[in-house]
Amino acid sequence: MRRAGLVVWGAHQLVGAMVRPGVTTGQIDLAVEQFFIAQGAESLFKGVPGKVPFPSVCCISVNDEVVHGIPGPRVLRVGDVVSVDTGCSVAGWCGDSAVTYPVGQVAPDVQRLLDCTSGVLALAIELMGVRSRWGDVATEMAKYVRDHGFSVVENFVGHGIGKKMHEDPQVPNFCTPAFRRNHDFQLEPGLVIAVEPMVNMGTKKVRALPDHWTQVTTDGLPSAHFEHTVAITDSGPKVLTAAPTADELAAPVAG
Ligand code: MG
Ligand code: MG
Repeated sequence: MRRAGLVVWGAHQLVGAMVRPGVTTGQIDLAVEQFFIAQGAESLFKGVPGKVPFPSVCCISVNDEVVHGIPGPRVLRVGDVVSVDTGCSVAGWCGDSAVTYPVGQVAPDVQRLLDCTSGVLALAIELMGVRSRWGDVATEMAKYVRDHGFSVVENFVGHGIGKKMHEDPQVPNFCTPAFRRNHDFQLEPGLVIAVEPMVNMGTKKVRALPDHWTQVTTDGLPSAHFEHTVAITDSGPKVLTAAPTADELAAPVAG
């Protein structure tokens, strides 16, 4: 899974270097598709079943688009935020990661939204090493977002990941008594989950656009999304979609 995670990390380096005013979301998607082919990786997103199969290797969601945006001719402009979510498999094992990028200078409250969303993902990964149940992590995630004055999206959650992109368990970024009773799970070595908080500046409510995929905020305010694939190991949480470590650069991951 680390091999797939490194390819996904590499895709995000490519995306980060491309994001600027004037670039289209379709150009970004095409670059990632070519990168996956060059790396011998298979897209996890292209062809995902729905009313229409998902047509692209990235979900690209701009401003009030929360997740599942379809890349195309849309041109990025200064002040936009663009969420790029992508995943691939290498030798049958999956990696999945999302980043929200600012396009040039963004408004201060929008930058705060990005910082809060990447911050709550970092908090969750840290807590995975010191809490025993996901419900405890999710409770603190929701509080962190609330304390920043933003709202956690509840219609979409993270997921287990392994040989398939979407496996059990479901990994919400908030906690309810029903989750505690029926769906909570132990954080123990061997578990691998995609943790992916989506945070809205205003209402948590979302709705689908007529393209059957793109989810937007119902109040039109911006949204942000950060995701990592995280394994719990005997020595704590390990982010499988993170940059190569010094050790890995010295002795590349075998394969
Ligand atoms: Mg994803
Ligand atoms: Mg995911």
